[in-house]
Amino acid sequence: MSVLEKISSAEIIALEDKHGAHNYHPLPVVLNKGEGVYVWDVEGKKYYDFLSAYSAVNQGHCHPKIVGAMIEQAQTLTLTSRAFYNDKLGVYEKFITNYFGFDKVLPMNTGAEAVETALKICRKWAYEKKGVAEKQAQIIVCENNFHGRTTTIISFSNDENARKNFGPFTDGFIKIPYNDVEALEKAITSSPNIAGFLVEPIQGEAGVYVPSEGYLTAAKELCEKHNVLFIADEVQTGIARTGKLLAVHHENIQPDILILGKAISGGVYPVSAVLANDEIMNVIKPGQHGSTFGGNPVAAAVAIAALEVVTDEKLAENADKLGKVFRSELDKYIQTSNIATLVRGKGLLNAIVINDTEESDTAWNICMKLAENGLLAKPTHGNIIRFAPPLVMTDEQLLDCVNIIINTLKEFEK
Ligand SMILES: *Cc1c(COP(=O)(O)O)cnc(C)c1O
Repeated sequence: MSVLEKISSAEIIALEDKHGAHNYHPLPVVLNKGEGVYVWDVEGKKYYDFLSAYSAVNQGHCHPKIVGAMIEQAQTLTLTSRAFYNDKLGVYEKFITNYFGFDKVLPMNTGAEAVETALKICRKWAYEKKGVAEKQAQIIVCENNFHGRTTTIISFSNDENARKNFGPFTDGFIKIPYNDVEALEKAITSSPNIAGFLVEPIQGEAGVYVPSEGYLTAAKELCEKHNVLFIADEVQTGIARTGKLLAVHHENIQPDILILGKAISGGVYPVSAVLANDEIMNVIKPGQHGSTFGGNPVAAAVAIAALEVVTDEKLAENADKLGKVFRSELDKYIQTSNIATLVRGKGLLNAIVINDTEESDTAWNICMKLAENGLLAKPTHGNIIRFAPPLVMTDEQLLDCVNIIINTLKEFEK
């Protein structure tokens, strides 16, 4: 529509404010173009993207191979539903199960749906394979988790803002502190009805909390010992983000159930997946679970292309290498700074903690200044800023970004 072409940022923000539900609080930047590590606003200003749509755009914006696969498939066949076969799904299923080393995949669309799917599979497995009594299955989760926004998922969140006035909630979850093996052992041995342990290998939304080395290994061993499913939510940490294909690969773990989303499509289309071996996945029979769009041919074509890009362009290796540079450069600055207290993370999933209270708007103001200086990032919780650029970044671009970040932080020194 030609009247829309010349519209300003202020006008677009006003449209959203008036006509859209106020369920987000975006930075006041209106983007209309992306390529690789860059995005542009409607006024033509260019930015480094240091959020990558919450790690969905690991392969970079508008990757030609992924977009090409989408266009080609979209012009051929978009949706059949699962009432019939389509010629892409089986090929994708073979590809992705080989890629991650599982017998089977259950395709969904969003991360939250994949988490819901994993919880349903886990409970069904508990009743039909482990022998838990009807309606008694319990799933262990961690404090400060983020697994999505459905009613069941927020039932075990402890973000009051995400929960308030959305009850009644779903039962059957036990919450324990993150990165606490003893608490896990206590919970696992507290009852014969424990079906699974759902965990983020690094807590992303909580502020990029990296657990102690050995935590995931110990957790996996406890799960094995007590016949409890280890369920890894790698929606944010997966697909090369942390410097390995999966974050659990840092400890050489194969989860019983793996949950993927976000970058499985390179951010061009909503694609999510649950992977497991036959003895678990085969508890699901026709009619027991599904999704109209899950496993559609566009999603299948896009996800194959997006995962091929991860391998072809060695994105895990690049994330590992650049992440080390990023943390060591930021660390050097932080030693001399009174505005940031620490940098933490793995690969290119990192965060800095700002030296102010959680309620302060300092982190927000820093992100506003970063935007002005040509780099887009967003606070996660109060005083924590996450830095997660596309993994296709070059060494030179990363150093440019480190300079922007440090120079911006310097403007806030007290
Ligand atoms: C983003 C995210 C989800 C939810 O994904 P949606 O696609 O937004 O539903 C689930 N788990 C983790 C760890 C995430 O980061």
